[in-house]
Amino acid sequence: MSKPSVYDNVTRQFDKAADLMNLNPEIRKILSRTTNEVIVNFPVKMDDGRVEMFTGYRVQHNNALGPYKGGLRYHPAVDIDEVRALATWMSWKSAIVDIPFGGGKGGVQCEPGKYSQTELERISRRFTYALGSNIGPEYDIPAPDVNTNAQIMAWILDTYLSTMPAHERQASVHVVTGKPVESGGSIGRDKATGQGVVFTIEEWARDKNFDLKGATYFVQGYGNVGSWASRLLKSHGSVLLAAEDVSGAVFNPKGIDPDDLYQYALKNKGLVGGYPKAETVDHQTFLATKADIFIPAALENQITAETAPGLNVKLVAEGANGPTNPEGDAILFERGIEVLPDVLCNAGGVVVSYFEWLQNKRSEFWDLQEVDAKLHRKLVAGYERVRTTAAEYKVDWRTAAYIVALTRLETVYKERGIFP
Ligand code: GLU
Repeated sequence: MSKPSVYDNVTRQFDKAADLMNLNPEIRKILSRTTNEVIVNFPVKMDDGRVEMFTGYRVQHNNALGPYKGGLRYHPAVDIDEVRALATWMSWKSAIVDIPFGGGKGGVQCEPGKYSQTELERISRRFTYALGSNIGPEYDIPAPDVNTNAQIMAWILDTYLSTMPAHERQASVHVVTGKPVESGGSIGRDKATGQGVVFTIEEWARDKNFDLKGATYFVQGYGNVGSWASRLLKSHGSVLLAAEDVSGAVFNPKGIDPDDLYQYALKNKGLVGGYPKAETVDHQTFLATKADIFIPAALENQITAETAPGLNVKLVAEGANGPTNPEGDAILFERGIEVLPDVLCNAGGVVVSYFEWLQNKRSEFWDLQEVDAKLHRKLVAGYERVRTTAAEYKVDWRTAAYIVALTRLETVYKERGIFP
């Protein structure tokens, strides 16, 4: 069976919100398309001397609010359809939390686990070189995403700077965010997406008078987002019951210590499979875990017509991009399961990317307290906008989040008009 279209999910979410809010039809035409789509095929020398060809993507959805912004992922499922969807979500995300960025996304279609560090470095450098001036510190700013990290950002930065005229190099460190702190990254960027997930869960809990102490949760994906969200929730006294990634799912009804699981994963290629202090369960059983909160923090299309009926939670907090498709959404809504949608819930990453970008431009270093406080303010404000809009239109939170984003973009297009 061919992979379901992720961009089709975006289109359906967009149409629903655009109809409800009566989005200006001309602006609707503009926002329902991406602006630029770059596909590059490039050769990379492998450790054994062979040459392998790779396909890389960068899609720029919209830059009416600021430079294109969004991550790069390395995964076999990366294709133009997926990257188009992810780029579009980035436009909405930045608009919702009110940061001056547009939407972009990219990646390389590959199985990164197959490659050595030196091969990954050459893939990253050659991809950057192939993208050339399609990225830039004031034009399109990549960041980490699935299977990419601060080290990969450092290689991208170094390659980009090495191909610039010498006198422009120092002024261009903000061409990528999510860099290692020593190379110009921001303190707090590493945990930012997980921290944002937890900040939005806190707001939800406050709204519902729900006590996070003793609350139970389970998480899909134990990479950057899933592991940080889990570890930060621990400080509220919440209890992690299960975790799943490509290596399988582990479950312990008495609770799993997220820090211990993290230490285990570090020694196990980042994977949770085989964790000795929990039992191994299958995917179906994992998804049916009875808990208060489910945090999908892996890939798209996990909560669907097939899986949504089996979920046994009060809240889905979307750490991943696009984990719920429109059929899944409809079932969750009907069943009274609330959703903190991706474009709000996981926006902490791009918010601290914005802080990193600002610090680079101003040659400043903010401390963790300042970063966290500013992140908190941005996310709480975004949460409030979505909550008010959901109440005003009497709609689910994803649709409300879209309405917030589309209203912001509609205003800008109306003010500026369409050239010429
Ligand atoms: N890849 C992350 C996301 O999907 C972060 C993007 C960024 O920091 O630019 O939001």
